[in-house]
Amino acid sequence: MRPHDRWMLVDGRWSRGRAREAFEVRDPATGDALGTVPVGTAADVDEAVAAAAAAALGWAAAPAAERGAALHAAARAVDEHADELARLTTAEMGKPAGDARGGVEAGAGTLRQYAELGPLHGARSLQGGRDAADFMVREPYGTVAVITPWNDPVAIACGLLGAALATGNTVVHKPSERTPHTGALLAELLAGCLPDGVLNVVSGDASTGAALAGHPGVDVVAHVGSSATGRRIAGLAARNGARALLENGGCDPLIVDAGVDPRWAAEQAATGCFANAGQICTSVERVYAHRDVAEEFLAALAERARGLRTGPGADPATELGPLVDARHRAQVHEHVEKAVAEGARLLAGGRIPDGPGCFYPATVLAGCTDDMAVMAEETFGPVAPVRTVASFDEALDAACRSRYGLAATVLTTDMAHAQRAWRALPVGTVKINAVFGGAPGGSATPRRASGRGFGYGPDLLDEMTAVKVVHLQSVTGG
Ligand code: NAD
Repeated sequence: MRPHDRWMLVDGRWSRGRAREAFEVRDPATGDALGTVPVGTAADVDEAVAAAAAAALGWAAAPAAERGAALHAAARAVDEHADELARLTTAEMGKPAGDARGGVEAGAGTLRQYAELGPLHGARSLQGGRDAADFMVREPYGTVAVITPWNDPVAIACGLLGAALATGNTVVHKPSERTPHTGALLAELLAGCLPDGVLNVVSGDASTGAALAGHPGVDVVAHVGSSATGRRIAGLAARNGARALLENGGCDPLIVDAGVDPRWAAEQAATGCFANAGQICTSVERVYAHRDVAEEFLAALAERARGLRTGPGADPATELGPLVDARHRAQVHEHVEKAVAEGARLLAGGRIPDGPGCFYPATVLAGCTDDMAVMAEETFGPVAPVRTVASFDEALDAACRSRYGLAATVLTTDMAHAQRAWRALPVGTVKINAVFGGAPGGSATPRRASGRGFGYGPDLLDEMTAVKVVHLQSVTGG
């Protein structure tokens, strides 16, 4: 699918690197082979980091407006290739075509935001005495390692790459091994608008990512991905004193309060649990439904689950595409099977279908308890595990208990409940009466196992820069 020798980009030159090993990528809807991708070695990482380091001074010295103009050009290139990027995304990870296109458009939009915000990004100044002033400047750290996942490969990469590049850092990007074609095309488009060495790319798997995260020439490691990987990366970065920015997994609760329309709540829950086959960092992972509405809510949710049009993401009618691969499907199914063995009732889905591809049906489980893995861990599949609760307080208390702290949603008509909930929930983002739909550019800091630091929005420009204070004093008494 991609020319054999265009996987690694180092100082403006494409090659397949020094890899001896390679892995195969398959379309999760059909099982068809899409290509063979080289696994970048420690030597490939060395070369890429050296190229980024060599380009760092020049890129940092470029006027911010010039860097902004390069990012505008990159956004145009992404727009011009939006169909191809979306098609590759769907082919590699299964996302329905419309969603894939939305992810590409979001990516181009983010590049534009950073193109505009970069030149405006600054710091404070203070006057300590009449003859003295302190001013603070923000400087790029140097070289940023950007390590990204597969579930929204263009949007997520554009965020981290845009912020790193707008602030004058150079980058080594390692796209996910599940979406390497998408990652390589995106890199090609962006690099075409940048001086050589400013953006470098290595293809590969966890071993390549670990070599990059632990490389002594890297100043910042920005990782979006699972919590387990995030913790490993934090350890690798700490060895070199590199800064780690981690946007990791979640186990987001959804509270359905008494007094809401149960059919509307079921629509919200279906969107939260089943969009992108549940493979969104802020997917709803556990539901607490008040007993006054639980029965009708569960019936409507199960009906919606059974009615979702399942098929290949490339079919425009598809609402539920496949999971990313068979390994991931087995993990999702294991959570569901264990929950059923522990007493949950299956109201929809829950069985692996016959036939090719990695499809998994939208699944609704009633009678769940918080100690079940499907409630306590990130399942990352189209699964809605529901616990019925006797009161809003019981729901809020349970929702607050998690080792994750990414986001949470509350559906309620009671303003006092909404106020209590947003105060109490120990998460980065609280959504009242809508599972998705935050403003573009919004950002929060995830907590606990969900990561650290801002991963999006204007605040990410702060994360990518170090503040230097300059104290200026007039010569006195001379
Ligand atoms: P992952 O952490 O397994 O992989 C992400 C990237 O990390 C890949 O490029 C991978 O090769 C690399 N990697 C894996 N092991 C590594 C190691 N030991 N050292 C260095 N790099 C390594 O995650 P994934 O399965 O690709 O993505 C799904 C996860 O991402 C889910 O947990 C999801 O919640 C999370 N996610 C979080 C956000 C967010 O903003 N919080 C957004 C999207 C996805």
